[in-house]
Amino acid sequence: MDADSLIHIAKPEDSHDRLYPISMGRYGPLVALPRILDTYRRLGLKQSFFIPGWCLETYPDVAEAILKDGHEIGHHGYLHEDPIKTRGEQREWFERTLDAHLRICGQKPRGYRAPVYNITHEVVDLMIEHGIRYDSSMMADDIPYRLDTEGGSLYEMPVHWGTDDWPPFAHYDEIGYMMPVRGPSQGLAGFWEEFEAQYDAGGFFMLIIHPFLTGRLARWKQVEAWIAKTQETKDVWFATLDEIADHMDHLQKDGIWTPSVERLPYYDGPILGDTT
Ligand SMILES: [Zn+2]
Repeated sequence: MDADSLIHIAKPEDSHDRLYPISMGRYGPLVALPRILDTYRRLGLKQSFFIPGWCLETYPDVAEAILKDGHEIGHHGYLHEDPIKTRGEQREWFERTLDAHLRICGQKPRGYRAPVYNITHEVVDLMIEHGIRYDSSMMADDIPYRLDTEGGSLYEMPVHWGTDDWPPFAHYDEIGYMMPVRGPSQGLAGFWEEFEAQYDAGGFFMLIIHPFLTGRLARWKQVEAWIAKTQETKDVWFATLDEIADHMDHLQKDGIWTPSVERLPYYDGPILGDTT
């Protein structure tokens, strides 16, 4: 739930006077979130929300409502700052966000998703230092796996663009997205195909939905209908990512399964090296 953080980080000099993108973002916490929480309550789902620290401070009632229903809130930067554009300054942003979680949510987040998925080694090291249990920004497998670094390990709950609602539904000139918006069923159709393939493989399906995009009436109506139908007709466990991390712990402890492992860093430096 990025709310209006996106415009403030993109245009800090005059974002306060850009009323259309502020209002588009505010639709997320104020209109879509109550709708989404209502669906999850009626269908008995617990889910993971990633929310920038500034949004927790700005919309604390929304954070409270999410936690009250038993959902999880993960770390998603402070003002949706891109870890690549803020490389070298991530400690300050990261720890300021942890402070916001402690103050508003009363607890440390268990997981992290990088704004725009732009995770860096700097952030991985901060996660390990602060006892964050999993990341959800990388794309190296179909199902959750483990990341090993010299400093420690994390679980990775992999994402990918095929199950993210940004490409079909975002239209946001101020941050460089000018793609035509798809109709609700057309935009969602690819997600359900992704689900079917994961289901056939006994796998893991994570839909990444921004409340201000997919929480709008026509789209959400279809998502809710899909969840209800899937609960009735398929053998699926809907869970938070923290619960999935618990599940991974148990499977390993009981000797049933071990995750595949990606070791970081992938490369020690620029792959072309010093070309001077
Ligand atoms: Zn985001």
